[in-house]
Amino acid sequence: MSRFPIRALRLRPGEEHRETLRLELEPLVFGGEAYAPTPGDVPAELVVQRASSGDVFRLALATRLEGPCMRCLSPAGVAIRVDAQEYEAASPGGDEELHSEYVGDGELDVAAWARDQIALEVPNQILCRPDCAGLCPVCGKDLNVEPHAHAEASADPRWAALEALRGEPADG
Ligand SMILES: [Zn+2]
Ligand SMILES: [Zn+2]
Repeated sequence: MSRFPIRALRLRPGEEHRETLRLELEPLVFGGEAYAPTPGDVPAELVVQRASSGDVFRLALATRLEGPCMRCLSPAGVAIRVDAQEYEAASPGGDEELHSEYVGDGELDVAAWARDQIALEVPNQILCRPDCAGLCPVCGKDLNVEPHAHAEASADPRWAALEALRGEPADG
């Protein structure tokens, strides 16, 4: 299920319709890496409430995005919860405020709505663990497995200052 047929509901003002859907969602891409909702068909609760002025839609779901750790590329995941609301006026005219971008041709594009909401809930970093040490910027080895430092990697500004005091060119 990706699009929900609203027109087929035939609700009267004051009535509501609740349905549990299973949404087939494409992976989301961050920094060139794909993060797939797991399991692949996400259970979601959709509520459609009809008022005389229009329809109110509520979408609730919980899922997990899985993909590579943004620091070390090991498997990582993050739990995501969505609880969102949209409104579509019975006659929105040209007013953007009264029109939901996910409603068209008597259908609600639930999958597009769910993906956008999931993307909003994603933290800045998806990590294998909060204190992941990442990959060594010099040799590319996993610093979680093999913690190490390189003697030449003294990009520390204090060393540059000392070198300046000694009157030597920094790269000499
Ligand atoms: Zn990691
Ligand atoms: Zn290294």
